[in-house]
Amino acid sequence: MKKLENKTALVTGSARGIGKAIAYRLGTEGAKVVISDVLFDLASATAEEFRSAGFEALAVRADVTKSDDVALLVEETVTRFGALDIVVNNAGITRDTLLLRMSEADWDLVLNINLKGAFLMTQAAAKVMIKQRSGRIINISSVVGRMGNAGQANYASSKAGLLGLTKSAAKELASRGITVNAVAPGYIATEMTEKLSDAAKEAFLNNIPLKRPGTPDDIAGVVAFLASEDAAYLTGQVIGVDGGLLM
Ligand code: NDP
Repeated sequence: MKKLENKTALVTGSARGIGKAIAYRLGTEGAKVVISDVLFDLASATAEEFRSAGFEALAVRADVTKSDDVALLVEETVTRFGALDIVVNNAGITRDTLLLRMSEADWDLVLNINLKGAFLMTQAAAKVMIKQRSGRIINISSVVGRMGNAGQANYASSKAGLLGLTKSAAKELASRGITVNAVAPGYIATEMTEKLSDAAKEAFLNNIPLKRPGTPDDIAGVVAFLASEDAAYLTGQVIGVDGGLLM
């Protein structure tokens, strides 16, 4: 039997990038997956691709900053698959610039999507998971949430905030059989990091002991572990998946 057989997993921002790799991996482990993204066409194409690969997948358009979207997303998931066992808060954006040039709008946008989105999703999912008396919530933070980064005050703050959310939710929900953990990826090759300057990419690589960027699959494997029974006694933890960048 596969490790996540009969489980339902919902991954936000999973039409592409790391979220897509996570959803795919959970699907190959046996989970039914909900592909949720602001990009509905791309989410639908991703879900179709997953169904062709042989597992159940549903695409739902949802903006994680909107509590109504999030409530409907959870409702559609439970209506379609009958449960919600695993939630991965992956949706995230960057709006990088130096602190003195950062607009209030870019601060608010990044904090809203990366941090408030995870709060809304956690709250909505927890209502279902508390009744089930089981659940796994996995937040995708970042190495920069732990060490800061010039030009990313908004992003690093949102990712550090996710660690506070992770630990607080872990403490509140543990007695209901729900674990909450965070993964802190380092420099992962995706469309998000494609935007970085060559100098910034070089600087990251020089500081990564394993001397390569991570791949979305490197993150997906750790998320699949956290979602599995093997991680039953793990909660409130932050797992760095960064090739040794933060050591
Ligand atoms: P991508 O930009 O490739 O994917 C993020 C997805 O989230 C996109 O499809 C995006 O849609 C979606 N999204 C954006 N806003 C919302 C919203 N309001 N509601 C729902 N979905 C939304 O990024 P990555 O795959 O690289 O990153 C995934 C996660 O991993 C992020 O949280 C990121 O911060 C984190 N991370 C990434 C690292 C990296 O090196 N790539 C390193 C550390 C952490 P749209 O295209 O419309 O914006």
